[in-house]
Amino acid sequence: MTTMQRVYKFGGGVASPDVTEGDASMNYILGGKGANLAEMCRIGLPVPPGFTITCQTCVEYDEAGNNWPDGALDEIEAATRDLEARMGKRLGDAEDPLLVSVRSGAPFSMPGMMDTVLNLGLNDESVMGLIAQTDNPHFAWDSYRRFIQMFSNVVLGIDADLFENAIAERRLIAGVRTDAELSDEDLRDLVDEFKEIFAREVDASAYPELVVDGTVTFPADPRLQLRLAIQAVFGSWMNERACIYRQRNRISDDLGTAVNVQVMVFGNKGETSATGVAFTRDPACGARGTYGDFLVNAQGEDVVAGIRNTEPISDLANVPGLEEAAAELDRVFGILEGHYRDMCDIEFTIEQGKLWMLQTRAGKRTAAAALRIAIDMVEEGLISRDEALMRIDPSQLDQLLHPQFDTSAAVDVLARGLNASPGAAVGEIVFSSDDAVAVHEAGRPAILVRWETNPDDLKGMVAAEGILTSHGGKTSHAAVIARGMGTPCVCGVESFRIDAAAKEVHVLGTDIVLHEGDVISIDGGQGIVVAGAVPLVKPELTGDLDTVLSWADDVRLDESDGRGYHVRVNADNPEDAELALEFGAEAIGLCRTEHMFLGDRKQIIQSFILSDDADVRAKALEDLLAVQTEDFVTMLRTMTGRAMVIRLIDPPLHEFLDDPRELAVEIARKEALGRDVSDARERLRLIDGMVESNPMLGLRGVRLSIVYADLPLMQVRAVASAAARLKLEGFDPRPEIMIPLVSITEEHVQTRAVAERVIMDVEAEYGVKLDIPIGTMIELPRACLVADEIAAHADFFCFGTNDLTQTTFGFSRDDAEAKFLPAYLHEKVLASNPFETVDPAVLQLVKMAVDKGRAVTPEMHFGVCGEHGGDPMSIVDFFNTAGVDYVSCSPYRVPLARLAAARAKLTCAL
Ligand code: PEP
Ligand code: MG
Repeated sequence: MTTMQRVYKFGGGVASPDVTEGDASMNYILGGKGANLAEMCRIGLPVPPGFTITCQTCVEYDEAGNNWPDGALDEIEAATRDLEARMGKRLGDAEDPLLVSVRSGAPFSMPGMMDTVLNLGLNDESVMGLIAQTDNPHFAWDSYRRFIQMFSNVVLGIDADLFENAIAERRLIAGVRTDAELSDEDLRDLVDEFKEIFAREVDASAYPELVVDGTVTFPADPRLQLRLAIQAVFGSWMNERACIYRQRNRISDDLGTAVNVQVMVFGNKGETSATGVAFTRDPACGARGTYGDFLVNAQGEDVVAGIRNTEPISDLANVPGLEEAAAELDRVFGILEGHYRDMCDIEFTIEQGKLWMLQTRAGKRTAAAALRIAIDMVEEGLISRDEALMRIDPSQLDQLLHPQFDTSAAVDVLARGLNASPGAAVGEIVFSSDDAVAVHEAGRPAILVRWETNPDDLKGMVAAEGILTSHGGKTSHAAVIARGMGTPCVCGVESFRIDAAAKEVHVLGTDIVLHEGDVISIDGGQGIVVAGAVPLVKPELTGDLDTVLSWADDVRLDESDGRGYHVRVNADNPEDAELALEFGAEAIGLCRTEHMFLGDRKQIIQSFILSDDADVRAKALEDLLAVQTEDFVTMLRTMTGRAMVIRLIDPPLHEFLDDPRELAVEIARKEALGRDVSDARERLRLIDGMVESNPMLGLRGVRLSIVYADLPLMQVRAVASAAARLKLEGFDPRPEIMIPLVSITEEHVQTRAVAERVIMDVEAEYGVKLDIPIGTMIELPRACLVADEIAAHADFFCFGTNDLTQTTFGFSRDDAEAKFLPAYLHEKVLASNPFETVDPAVLQLVKMAVDKGRAVTPEMHFGVCGEHGGDPMSIVDFFNTAGVDYVSCSPYRVPLARLAAARAKLTCAL
């Protein structure tokens, strides 16, 4: 017997005071929608009354294999009776029926992912009651047919097209263009026809409760309608699109969704009724002023479905009969912003001139809008700078670094639409989600071109580089989802007449016809479409980003609590170093020197590796020394006054050699032509001799320094000579040498001794004093275990968490993500990809090594330079749990890391 409360009431009623039980803090119990409906009731906003069934009930229902937990149905029945009493109406009543909506509402907003049923409670009797009450048979029959259609599709999974086709046919027979022109009789006949479709399509054995006198019948009992609708919403938590959405947004599957049962209000009761969605500020750019769309005489789903073209919210006050509701809405916007101190996204309905609030939540916004809103709200005194930083999701900043159209290139605008989600994309036109996936998998960029997207398109939207719709506003499904994913999107391109079946688009006002596979470019920041490929450029950082990041820097670099949280960059060429400085990196945390051996230098390193001749090898080293010294001079000059951690050569040497399989084919080909292949054969023998079974566990990292000491020796000489030269020129070079893949203290000790001798030689040669710290890259579990021993000989530690993850799990970092990690994630063996977000056990190893190192040398510095150094969640853990001093990541991740580091510090202070 459980004592857990499963149902919470909200709102009042005709015959009842407000009986709200929940509030905004109960997100995890009532879901976002339920918690905020309760909160809106508490602050006196007009909310249709109802009740919320908890997320925990959904979890238990799912876990029990779609079986209701004990007592849940009784609680729902009690709440239903209570709602009937509050409203003075009954579900299914033949004179004055109560109608309700049944909507999902998870703890985190998942727009359009789960199910909703409207107008529940209608049957052959209550439709008469609705006619009696409204004196509007057209409205009542239309509501009934909508209910059957929605219930059949959402609850029983019947193909929505069957109903749409029936309506289209009815319009044809009646000789009318729109549904609104259908007669009352037409609608009543449609109700009968819909019931027949229902009876035909439902599998009697799966739904025995729907069988009456041996045949499947549309359920007339509102209690049965309600139970089935709630079950459908619970079931929709685990539908494919909801699962994909959660995976992308890192929302746990264990949360479940709440279900809100709420008294219906109607936006389709004539010309003084309307429905709409709105934001209290512009979700695309963050500008002050309300923003949204509405439709007169329509039901809520019509707005988001993009079926009819909507009107801007600014015009609401101009609609006769809606002036008062528009003024009230304005007042509500102000109340909501003041109360939530955030930009709110709302759904509302106006029923015969009276405003009702159906939902509010913190509105989804683009990164640009998130910055603008945060800055404005700080200026308006609504929030503090610290709160502003906590409002901006670091991963979202990626969006701002999206490519843009190169404005120096002349573009011929083919069509215009709404600037729904910023960034530019170039790709070939596809007309279906499956095609978007196929083109993406073939390695080509796709632009998904649709009349409008729906939740089933999620896969295609994820796969596409950009999204274009010919219909729908900025709050349409396509716009909301694209903004959430950071995918460029232009919607409402009305001049595109799309024929998805024929896979072509006619562009109105032109004789242009675009076909599948044709390349187009879209700019979701400007809302423009261009035929062909427009060159793209990297974006300028906006002033807003600079402002917010400077606030972030103030927080993260504040040492009043003992230490700053620093951000470095992984860069191995001067361009990346310069870019990273623009992005605010403080230093280079990892320069992978082997990248300097590629291109035309590959020949030189190959001759070093493959030759037995001492002279040839010496010449190769001399050549490498010359080019590598120049590399370091350029980069150290760029980084003057800032640290630059230079890692000695790390990868297995065969990575610089030819692929033996290709070489064997080449030999066979030449032999067939009768050519001399003796040199090639010798080369193949040498390459074969270097092949290892597990190269990532083989002759690489510090092991190379022990076996081929000449190579790292040359590198240290190059570093020291570059530093000496720059010092003489008046620069302030600060190289640090890092020894990779150490597991045994002696590996570090011997390599360090060699390096120090070289540095001393160079000091003598140039007559300058050099101070080059020598540290260890900790990326093997053994190194973590003996970190105190190593620390006695190292000036710093930097954690290579890519290799540390590989070796802690025993997962090949090159193969795991393609071979078995997707299955591990799908089967929930792992909650997240450990190569993306640091695993707790790996984090413990890092922490252990930091603690051991600090115990030996308290002033020693610790950093992380694996890919995890650019992952917002891992960044918090590295700073707050492991206690490192800096993270180092790729240049484009630096802004994100600065914000994530500040947020880490703020949460640490809590
Ligand atoms: C690491 O292993 O985390 C690392 C940064 O080094 P690399 O990726 O070059 O092996
Ligand atoms: Mg490594």
